[in-house]
Amino acid sequence: MRSQRALRALCRDTLKGLDLDLPLDVTQLCDRYGERRGRPIRLIAHPLPAGMPNGVWLAADDADYFFYQSNTSRLHQDQIVIHEFGHLIAGHQMLGAVSASALTAPSAGDSDDALQRTCYSDDREWEAEMLASMMLSWAADASDTVGSTPANADLRGIQRLLGGHKGWL
Ligand SMILES: [Zn+2]
Repeated sequence: MRSQRALRALCRDTLKGLDLDLPLDVTQLCDRYGERRGRPIRLIAHPLPAGMPNGVWLAADDADYFFYQSNTSRLHQDQIVIHEFGHLIAGHQMLGAVSASALTAPSAGDSDDALQRTCYSDDREWEAEMLASMMLSWAADASDTVGSTPANADLRGIQRLLGGHKGWL
């Protein structure tokens, strides 16, 4: 299991250079990270049944898919997505690649079969949760400092120089 220090370094390395807006938008985070590594992350709201996790990451041949619970609040959905993002950056994938067609045009049964194969050890759950909470608390602190990110590139540069992004971007 990684130390908190190692997890914090992983967060910084992941977020650095993504030029994210504040307040944090998890969709933008996933889009930019996917662009940078040349493999998209696709977010799909899905009514996950009781007894299953609220979020599931599946690696398909062309992209990573995060399924997240559609039957909950937007805030909770953001927490679910960033938790799955934590699993991804920590390299927790343990499923073989599944074909994209099984995910995107499935019968209901195929989709549920695929979703039910995700089960992580407690260590991995802890790491994903720590990564998620580090990123969310960094973003909340940075938003408290700077409010929202200006659209103007010069102003963004100044904001960064002044340390408003806590050195994470
Ligand atoms: Zn998890």
